[in-house]
Amino acid sequence: MKTRIAEKFSTLFATEGEFFASAGRINLIGEHTDYNGGYVFPGAIDKGIMAEIALNGTDKVRAFSLDMDEYVEFGLNEEDKPHQSWACYIFGVCRETIKRGGKVAGFNTVFAGDVPLGAGLSSSAALESTFAYAINELNANGIDKFELAKIGQSTEHNYCGVKCGIMDQFASCFGKEGSLIRLNCKTLEYKYFPFNPEGYRLVLVDSCVKHELASSAYNKRRQSCENAAAAIRKNHPEVEFLSDAKRLWLDEVREEIPQEDFLRAEYVIGEVQRVLDVCDALERGDYETVGEMMYQTHFGLSKLYEVSCEELDFLNKLARKMDVTGSRVMGGGFGGCTINLVKAELYQDFVDTAIQKFTERFGHAPKIYDVVISDGARKLQ
Ligand code: ADP
Ligand code: MG
Repeated sequence: MKTRIAEKFSTLFATEGEFFASAGRINLIGEHTDYNGGYVFPGAIDKGIMAEIALNGTDKVRAFSLDMDEYVEFGLNEEDKPHQSWACYIFGVCRETIKRGGKVAGFNTVFAGDVPLGAGLSSSAALESTFAYAINELNANGIDKFELAKIGQSTEHNYCGVKCGIMDQFASCFGKEGSLIRLNCKTLEYKYFPFNPEGYRLVLVDSCVKHELASSAYNKRRQSCENAAAAIRKNHPEVEFLSDAKRLWLDEVREEIPQEDFLRAEYVIGEVQRVLDVCDALERGDYETVGEMMYQTHFGLSKLYEVSCEELDFLNKLARKMDVTGSRVMGGGFGGCTINLVKAELYQDFVDTAIQKFTERFGHAPKIYDVVISDGARKLQ
């Protein structure tokens, strides 16, 4: 990828620049916990965006996307927002840097990536954090990594119409090879945990379906969580978010809230605990427990939180049947991928069988993405 970028850069701009990169992400466990003030547990992956960049002494950005095979030029003023959606990410990062008092000098860039788009691995965060990091370095702005993540998040909010949380950009900026990062979504405190699953592989199976329920169902889930938290808060005023509640406290209000809200809350409170249990297990190198927790999360997402779907339950059941160590739906639900922790010796059989059985059942093949936990935003030497 680096060679292709360098060739194009030199053809277009007749100079050389510096190389920067960042990564997509997975979330091992901790789903639908972010807006409940709980933990998420992401890590950066070995699929990302790479860019060659050089300041050009103008007030313009000249950008070429190798994957889109498209050149865009824009100014750094608010009115210069480009039409191409990929360029809006770069423009947004520039604008958000300026908003925070950073300097953004005009630059030339050629970039490419290998995060599958829209598959739930956050290619957009990889793109944002590559440029947020590079612009910060090239202009010596000294903005800290957390703020770089927020630059990416605000880019999604203000320039791309996606009201996302902070997890994707956080993981992409803070990611480290061999580590997952537990982020407390209420306090934004974070901690690295070792993830070196020797003898296991992480593989995503992408159902390639997206059921339309997603956004209305999401709003309903949020409302249920708030209802349950409000009921618990009457007895325990310290409960700001649902994740602050103990399981027993939920049982106290069982009769007061609709059954549906109870089940949603039961999932969330369980999930917050599972993240903690997984972190403990990782410190012991106990990947079997990690896997078991992933199955419990899938069960919760499917039967209590009800955000799975036939395709994902099928993949999860197949994984269980084949003795895959851990498997669960990853992301908001109603489609997308399962994330699987699988013993190396079982890997090929699992992947082949998943492709064959899924295709027989649903008429199209799933996609397979192998991932290794890797570094996030960085300058390349
Ligand atoms: P994801 O879940 O992968 O983040 P999004 O829809 O949020 O999906 O972001 C995908 C968008 O990010 C693409 O439509 C494109 O505009 C931009 N993008 C991601 N990767 C690349 C790339 N390699 N080259 C150009 N644009 C990219
Ligand atoms: Mg995205």
